[in-house]
Amino acid sequence: ASLRASPHYPEVVEKLRNVFRLKAFRKNQLAAIVSTLNGRDAIVLMPTGGGKSLCFQLPAVCRGGKTTGVTIVVSPLRALMADQVERLRSLEIDVMMLASMDSQDGNSMHELRSTANKPSLVYVTPEKLYCSDNMKAILKGLHARRQLARFVIDEAHLINSWGRDFRASGYAALSDIRKDYPGVPIVALTATATSEALQDIVTALSLNDYVLLSQSFNRPNLRYKVIPKKKDTELSIAQFIKEKYPGKTGIIYCIARIKTEEVAKKLKAHGLNARHFHAGLNDGDRKRIQQQWQNGECNIIVATVAFGMGVDKADVRFVIHFDVPESVDAYCQETGRAGRDGKVADCILYYSYYDVQRRILRINKDTEIDVVQKSRKRQAVHTVSAFCINEIDCRRMLLLNHFTEKFDPASCNGTCDNCASTDEVTEIDLTTYATQFVIMFQEAQDRCMKITGALSLHAFRGTSKQEMTRRTYDTLESFGKGSSLSTDLTKRLFDNLIAREVLSTELEEAPVPNRAPVSYVYLGPAADDFLAKMPSFVLKIRCPK
Ligand code: ADP
Repeated sequence: ASLRASPHYPEVVEKLRNVFRLKAFRKNQLAAIVSTLNGRDAIVLMPTGGGKSLCFQLPAVCRGGKTTGVTIVVSPLRALMADQVERLRSLEIDVMMLASMDSQDGNSMHELRSTANKPSLVYVTPEKLYCSDNMKAILKGLHARRQLARFVIDEAHLINSWGRDFRASGYAALSDIRKDYPGVPIVALTATATSEALQDIVTALSLNDYVLLSQSFNRPNLRYKVIPKKKDTELSIAQFIKEKYPGKTGIIYCIARIKTEEVAKKLKAHGLNARHFHAGLNDGDRKRIQQQWQNGECNIIVATVAFGMGVDKADVRFVIHFDVPESVDAYCQETGRAGRDGKVADCILYYSYYDVQRRILRINKDTEIDVVQKSRKRQAVHTVSAFCINEIDCRRMLLLNHFTEKFDPASCNGTCDNCASTDEVTEIDLTTYATQFVIMFQEAQDRCMKITGALSLHAFRGTSKQEMTRRTYDTLESFGKGSSLSTDLTKRLFDNLIAREVLSTELEEAPVPNRAPVSYVYLGPAADDFLAKMPSFVLKIRCPK
């Protein structure tokens, strides 16, 4: 009600109807608009598709704000900008886009400097904002003449993404905005922010007395499911699509470029209309594929994470993770592209611990990030991994808790696999086995025997005898001690010991070139404590009725 009493309200509503041709505001849009018109800093947290753009596009065309003039929008991706610019022009809004480092932008820059009729919005890349002296001079000029209405930082979570993504995005430079342009309000918008990420945004941008507009990140129309990755995942995906969503639109994310090509090829062989997409393709191909997907000529995109930011297709019916995502944040961002139209959409993640290790190996090998960043990234992968192997708790609750939001699992109503499962939850006391299993790795380590995860399961259960003898694993004290456990239970025991960091694995490059890396198991950081206390080890698992 107090928002409606704002002196800005009449103008804001007039623009909503007559310029944007919309009937009503969505949650938090009006509050965001009024805050920035009042000259306050604001952070807008809204799920993908929530309508973030309007929060800065509308005030940009208002004349009554505390600060007026040009709204500068910093956005990381040219494609993303181009879409918005096109839409704004179709609404007859005067907008300029400055996204190239060469002189192509020369005319626009000249215009921005000289004409009295300034555009309402100027979209810039962070590089342009901070690496072009020309641009800086123009902005300084506008600032001196009080013609800068506000700075908008879209996809503000990039400020927090540690490591290379951060540097590549150019967002590091944004921390000077406050100092360079005092008195100009800042609006930061994002669809993903943990409280930690939020703090990083506030600090980096030196926001003061800001208005925080956040809302539930729950996406009730998304269905979450994690499936253990087995052989021929492509077949399983193809069957799913053909059965549930024939001819419908979807995205399949893979960790590696080469994988996107392989998967797309296999899906095509299964008769599906799939294309691959990654950053290694040339600009023209990427544009073409994105276009084909956008207009429905091709309905399934198999892509690396290079695909998606700025993708605005409302009827995405499924987002499938062929490999484990890099973090829960990334997972939410990526699955968030499904079901923007509000209709039911499926998010399926194929999980294998091997993929987790591949991610860790990648992080370890990355020469562009430092030790601290590596450890943060590894931790993020472990968090996703723990989410995946959890077969008890509501996934919606786990995801929302990650963003410090509470959620009552009773409201999930079976919209995640764990809540939907009718299998009974049983508790199994594996204390004795766990201890013996861990002792096995201790002995192996003492005797300088390297042992892989798969072989360790055989050794513990005493199976695959010939190979065990050949590798002398049969001489280990704990050999065969787990013979009465099923393969499945031994695997779960193993996964849980890993999750609790009693064991840890290290993926090493294969001794032979062009072979898949090999994963060896060692005692983890929590092993000493575990062996000293030998705590009870009870697994909660689901057993089919
Ligand atoms: P985000 O950037 O949060 O992912 P967008 O700003 O791209 O979302 O908006 C998503 C969609 O919702 C767009 O198609 C936009 O036109 C539409 N939209 C935004 N605000 C409103 C509104 N108040 N009423 C109707 N549609 C809206």
